Formats: sequence, structure tokens, C-alpha cells
Amino acid sequence: MPNSSNPASVPPTERRIGRLSEVSINQIAAGEVLERPASAVKELIENAIDADATRIEITVVNAGRNLIRVADNGCGIASDDLKLAVERHATSKISDANLNDIRTLGFRGEALPSMGSVGQLTVKSRWHDSDRAFQIEVDSGNLVGVRPAALREGTIVELRQLFSKTPARLKFLRSNKAETRAINSVVRTLAMATPKVGYSLHSGSETGRLQRVLSMPPESESDGDPFRLRLTRLFKSEFLENTVAFERELSGVAVRGFCGLPTYVRSATSAQHFFVNGRGIRDRLFLGLVRGAYGDLVSSGKHPVIVLFMECPSEMIDVNVHPAKTEIRFREPGLIRAVTISAIQDALAREGHRTAPSVSRAMTSRLAPGRPESTAANPDQADQREGGSTGRHGSLLDADATAAKPLGSFEPAAEPGSVADPKALEHPLGAARMQVHRNYIVSQTADGIVLVDQHAAAERLVFEELKKAYHAGKPDSRALLVPEVVELEQNDIDRLLEVKEELAALGLTVDRFGPGAVCVRQIPAILGEVSCKDLLQDIADGLGAGERVRVLEKRMNDVLSTIACHGSIRSGSVLSVNEMNALLRKMEVTPHSGQCNHGRPTWLELKLSDIERMFGRR
Ligand code: ADP
Ligand code: MG
Repeated sequence: MPNSSNPASVPPTERRIGRLSEVSINQIAAGEVLERPASAVKELIENAIDADATRIEITVVNAGRNLIRVADNGCGIASDDLKLAVERHATSKISDANLNDIRTLGFRGEALPSMGSVGQLTVKSRWHDSDRAFQIEVDSGNLVGVRPAALREGTIVELRQLFSKTPARLKFLRSNKAETRAINSVVRTLAMATPKVGYSLHSGSETGRLQRVLSMPPESESDGDPFRLRLTRLFKSEFLENTVAFERELSGVAVRGFCGLPTYVRSATSAQHFFVNGRGIRDRLFLGLVRGAYGDLVSSGKHPVIVLFMECPSEMIDVNVHPAKTEIRFREPGLIRAVTISAIQDALAREGHRTAPSVSRAMTSRLAPGRPESTAANPDQADQREGGSTGRHGSLLDADATAAKPLGSFEPAAEPGSVADPKALEHPLGAARMQVHRNYIVSQTADGIVLVDQHAAAERLVFEELKKAYHAGKPDSRALLVPEVVELEQNDIDRLLEVKEELAALGLTVDRFGPGAVCVRQIPAILGEVSCKDLLQDIADGLGAGERVRVLEKRMNDVLSTIACHGSIRSGSVLSVNEMNALLRKMEVTPHSGQCNHGRPTWLELKLSDIERMFGRR
């Protein structure tokens, strides 16, 4: 209903300009700075870091809706400054004279007043060379004066009933689990960049006991590189085993960090972390730089894991382009690009041998056709040789195929008469003749040739099959002989278990298995042999990528598509002629099989007449 006191309901010709109250101004600012409880946690931790704290203790109740409490042992706030601290545009971090020389995480003087306008804020603090502590309270914009408090050192900020007076904001919050996850991720990100600060995070419900979610001691220089120590603590040893350290300095810009081997990839960019002068940023420039540095070492749609720290003179960057300070502008993007790309590429080139052994072993076995079976000394070779068997490809290709022999880079031509289906030439996709580059099937049709991208095609077939089974409520799953235990980060586990029922409906049974692991008992039969770890990681990444709640249908489609990528016919799988033909026949009867799940074509046709024209015969 239009409200008569609302200027918007008055025609523009009669509207006059009025000043907004301080409370309204702060609430508007809060809309930008405090999107969700995790943003308040971020601002409060940043304040503690700016105060040189070495211990930061975070407590949240009801995912931060009821209480966010951040305690630190930093320098504290002088009692005379407490009132200013909760006032808008009041800050101790920059002055009018040094607006462009920002060395702290905060500088806008907006966080505390914003919190005071959308919740009940208490700031309790003891200035480092004072023998007494004081506190100040702001409740929905109303200031309660400064009074003495009991506190040994540092600052404790408590924010209660966040957004309770702004129901529109409350409505945009996600489930407690999702909000707690966002808080967890904020703490972890800040902890990456500040290894010498110890952190703890406790979380609880209104009635339940507080539980420890995270705890990290300050990393000490005497135990090694603090950054390396902290990352190992956050990501477990898997991180260091699969990443390469890089370091470079050019014209005052220094980068260092750890970049993943090209095989250590995720399907979302959530495992890419960038910090500039200690500030965690989400920036297209860096996402692009990483893509550029890896080039075709990783396939499109895959993102290498990376943690990058950059230090540069503050006059080279502008951090004041977004209220949440997660974006940044560089004066010389060219320089940034040069330093970063060369640092990563050199590191990858230097450590390239770490990926090389398995790849070159596979190549050697492939380039020696007809080698006796018994020379298959290592598992990689054995694995490759089985690549062509029907057993490995599961139910997708049920032709009575023979296992492929070790091959050169292509399958030698077979006469049409020698293949299982002599009428194959008449089929729209023709008779398979050979496989080239271990991913492309060349087939002969009645009047031309067809090239099939086997990976793209198989992915689509698996996707359609899974969809059909899912919608029919009849998942065709295969029990694993030995249930597989997969270690994942807690965030990923939570995301997966949130959709446990849906996954079960797809034939994928995942259960909690102690802390930090899940147990897989059944997988969709159509997948054949898969790496459960890669499969689950990709699904979890996909679930995390869509920030807002999505309709289940869309979400499950994404999961199905992710699962389909893990079907065992991928590029690199050697197929026998029979298997290739089975794939072609299946494509002919499967809807949408002309495009892969990402919209690329799965096959291309060249008519004989076109070929003749190209050779000038016509
Ligand atoms: P900003 O961080 O942009 O300056 P805030 O609203 O977050 O703005 O904080 C206002 C001021 O309050 C800070 O500039 C700082 O002087 C003081 N302050 C806030 N939190 C702390 C803390 N944990 N320890 C010491 N000082 C703090
Ligand atoms: Mg701040």
C-alpha cells in the first residue's frame, strides 16, 4: 500500500529535498558493508588485525544472528576515542593528509556505526597504556554513554540481534549452516594472510553448547615459513604435496605463494585465494592472470588451486572502489600481470617433473604397440591397457567388445565387414574406422566422414541416462566392493551432506565418516570406474559456486552434469572399434546428443562432396 508520508508516493513536481537522519544514513551504509553475518565477522577481525592483535577469538551464536563476538589482544581504544569509534567516517587509520597511503585493512570508518544501526553493539576496550577499561553501547542507532568496564587487555566487540530491526535483510539470509559456513570461510581466508595471529572460532545455537569450529595457534618463525605452516594447517598436507612455491619481485612489486600442479584443479574458483598487501580480494584480474599463466595446461572449466600474496607500494593500488574492500584497482596492471604470470610459469616449469612421471609412463606404453603383457610393470600401464575393456566402461557401451590392444596414437583402420555391425555405414553416424589423439573417433558414413569428440559425447550420454533414472526415481547404482573413504575439507563435507538425499536418488550414497571424511558406498552404475575423491570434490565445488539458494531442480541438474563429467570414457580412453560403434549407436538414439553438457558440439560431419570440392575434383 502506498504510504502518504513516503516521498515516493508524491509526484516528482511536489517533492522537496530533505536530510536523512544519521541512523538512516548508517543503515544505508550497512546495506553495503554488512551483507550477512559473515561480513560483520570480517570487519571485526580486520579491526583486530589492524590493532596488531596476536590472538583473535570469535564466537557466533545462531550463525551470528543472535551474537557475534570478537575478542582480541590488540592495542585497544582510548576511552576518549570510544564515542568516535562508533561514529560514521571516524577512523584512526587514515587522515585527510594521507588518503592515498592506505596500509591498514580498514580506513572507511563505517563498520562499527553500521553495526550499531542494524543491531545492538557493545565495544569494550582497554587502551594499551591505560590501567582501566571502558565500554560503549549503541542499540539500533541510539548511543548509550561511555562507562567503566572490566577487561584486562585488548578489545571485545559484541553484536547482538543483527538485522532484527531490518526484516528485509533477515529474509535474505540463508540457512544457519550456510551462514556459519560463510563465517568459517571468512575466518580461514583472513587466517591465511596473517599466520602470526592465532585464531579460534566457536559456534553454537541459542540453547546448545558452543562448539569449537577452528583453532590455530600463532605460527612462529622459528618453526619455518609461517605462511607455509599456516596453509598446511588449513589445507592439510595434501596442499603442499600438490602445489609448487613461487616467488618473484619486479619494480617494487613482490609476489609469492603456492600454485597447484596442473593436475590439482577444481571446477570452481573457490580454491583460488589472492591477497594484496594482506587484503583478501576477489578480482577478475587475478582470475584471468591465473588462467593465462596455466594456459592450456588445464582444460577450460577447471581452475588450479592457488594462494597468492602480493606486496606493493600503496600508491600503486586503489582499494577504495568497493565498500566491502574486496576489489582493487591497479595503477599498472601490466606490471602486475608480468610479475604474476612469470612467477607462476617459472615455478611450474621448474617443478614440471613432479607431474611428468605418470604422464610419460603412460605415453611410453602407448607408443609400443604389441608389447608383451608381462612388461606392464607399473599400475599406470596396467590401468591404460584396461582402458578399452567393456568392464571398465561399465554399462554405457554394452556391445560385446573385445579389449583394446596397446595402441599407437591411432587405431588402425578396420574393414567395414570386420566390425560387429556390417550395416554400420548406413547409420547416420556411420561405421567407426579409427580413434585419433585418443579422443576423436573417425567414422565413415555412406557419403562422408564424421568426427566425434568421444569425451563430450559420452558425457552427454551419461548425463541423459542419469537424468532419466533420477526422474524415474530408479537410480541404477553399483555397490562398491570396499566402501571408499574420502577425505575432504569440512565445508565441502557439509555441502555434500546437505544434499545427501538427492545424491542417493542419483545412485550416489555418501555418509559421514568421522571428522574430515565421508564414506562412499554406492556410485551410479553408468559411471564405471571413477575416482570418488575427484567426483565428490567437483560436486562440492559446484554446490558452493551458486551463492544464492537455487531451485532444487536446477541444482540437481548441475550435480548430474558434474557427475557425468566423471564417466569413464574421457579423452584419453582408448576404445576398440566395437566400443566406438556402440557409442555412435547410442548417440543416435539419445536426445541432445549433438551437444555436450557445456553446449559444445559432440560431432562434426564432412560430406564426400565437400572433400572432393576441397581437392578441386568438383
Ligand atoms: P575503520 O576500521 O575503517 O577505521 P571501524 O568502524 O571498523 O572503521 O572502526 C572505527 C575505529 O575504531 C577504528 O579506526 C579504530 O580506531 C577503532 N577500533 C575498532 N575496532 C578496534 C579494535 N578491535 N582494536 C582497536 N581499535 C579498534
Ligand atoms: Mg574497520
